Amino acid sequence: MASELVDVSGIIFKRKRYKEADVLTKIITKQKGIFTIDVKGALRPKSKLGAATLNFSYGIYTVNTSNKGISSLRTFKNVRQFENIYLDITKQAYASYILDLVDHAFIEYQANWEVYDLVFTALNKINDDFDEEIIKQMIELKMLYYFGVAPKLDSCMICNKKQGIFDFSLERGAIICSDHFNQVSDRMHLDPQVVSLIRTLALIKIDRLGKININTNLKNNSKRVIDRMYTRYLDLNLKSKKFLDELRMI
Ligand SMILES: [Zn+2]
Repeated sequence: MASELVDVSGIIFKRKRYKEADVLTKIITKQKGIFTIDVKGALRPKSKLGAATLNFSYGIYTVNTSNKGISSLRTFKNVRQFENIYLDITKQAYASYILDLVDHAFIEYQANWEVYDLVFTALNKINDDFDEEIIKQMIELKMLYYFGVAPKLDSCMICNKKQGIFDFSLERGAIICSDHFNQVSDRMHLDPQVVSLIRTLALIKIDRLGKININTNLKNNSKRVIDRMYTRYLDLNLKSKKFLDELRMI
């Protein structure tokens, strides 16, 4: 396939040394999904390409690509950085895990505008001091859909009721309303508040999420349920997730 020169809107999220003074970075883009770019001479002093491809930089990148394998960076414009993420180890751990998770849901060069916007908004919010744990849980819940294992959270699996008190069944991957608790023996017996938080995070659009204050206990409980969904439905075992969990315990 012939290579082409294209402008992509993207976010840089992983870097490693390559050859003598190059850097290989991963980029998530609106137009061409996630792929790797070779940033030639990035490690040389005063390299402009190097400076524009620090982790959590975003902007318009002009790449030479054949839509497979490694592409290379030619030039860039309007590049900025999620600075607070770059400078804060906790924010960075959250952002890295989110990007790692998204990376595992797609093959390279598989574009998805919706997911790009979701990630971009999530990073913006983390950068702006929104609750990163809540943002992470929202992304995890929404990504289950792209992994093809989304549980049914919009309405009761038996009567389709959308409002009321709900429990969740991990086995069935669905919520059950209190009218039908007795019909589902493998429900988790969760605190209805936990189910309510999970449903909200899964169903509302990320731009509608304000700087809400959710108590730690509730947040830890919803985290445990989401972790169990991931173990049960996917079992990805990501290092970035392990690192984040360890960091949260400090
Ligand atoms: Zn029902």
